[in-house]
Amino acid sequence: MCPPKFLDLLRTPGFVEQAVDRAGGGPVVDSPWPSQPVQPFSFAHVVDLTHALSPASPVFPSLPAFVVEQPFATHEAHGVSINRYTLSDHCGTHFDAPYHVSRHGLHTDEVPVRSLVAPAVVIDIGEKANHDHAALVTPADLLAWERRYGRIPAGAAVLMASGWAARIDSAQTYVNTDASGVHHFPGFSVESARFLLDERDVVGIGVDTLSLDHGPTQNFAIRTGCVRRSTCATS
Ligand SMILES: [Zn+2]
Repeated sequence: MCPPKFLDLLRTPGFVEQAVDRAGGGPVVDSPWPSQPVQPFSFAHVVDLTHALSPASPVFPSLPAFVVEQPFATHEAHGVSINRYTLSDHCGTHFDAPYHVSRHGLHTDEVPVRSLVAPAVVIDIGEKANHDHAALVTPADLLAWERRYGRIPAGAAVLMASGWAARIDSAQTYVNTDASGVHHFPGFSVESARFLLDERDVVGIGVDTLSLDHGPTQNFAIRTGCVRRSTCATS
C-alpha cells in the first residue's frame, strides 16, 4: 500500500530524485531489473499472505476506497456470478512496480515473473511493535536473523512481520493516526533498506503495513528509493 500524502509528495518537483539520494545515494537512473541467476529450487510450505478486500479495507486517505458495485450478473438472474467493483491499484495486498515512482520504470507486467517467486526472509518485529507502534526494522534485526538462519540470500524477498495484519479489518487502528495527524505503524529504517539493497542484493522488500517507511515518515525515502531502484514492495 502507499502511505498517506504520497501522491502529493510525488508531485513535488525533485522529490523522487531527493528520495533516491536519501535512500541509497545512487544516481537517479532506472537500473535494469536485477538479473538473479536462475537456480532450480523447490518448496514445501506455502503461506497465503493476502487479505480479502472489503469496503472496510484500509486505504490511504486520499485514494478511493474499495467499492463493490451492483453485480454484473447473479446466479438468480443469469446463472453465473460476476461482480463489478472499483478500487485503486494500491488498495489491499499488492505489489509496487518501479513505474509507481518512476515514469521510466517497469510496469507490473514487465517485471520478470521469475523474480516474483523468491526465497522469503521474514523479519519478525512483532514484540517491538507491540510497544512502539512506529517501530523500525533495523540492521541489527537483519543481522540477528542472519546469526540464527544464515546469510540473507541474493534474490530473496525480505518481509517485515509486525503483527499489523491483526488490524486489517479496522482502518482506524491500521493507519493509527494520532490527534496531530501523524500515523503510527512500523516500517523499515533507511539503513536497513540500504543494507538489503547494497549488501544483500534482495529482489523485494515487503511489509504488512501501509508503507515500507514507518508511519511518521515525512519523506517516504525508502518507498521511493527502493521501488525506483528496481525492488518491489508488497503489503
Ligand atoms: Zn503501493
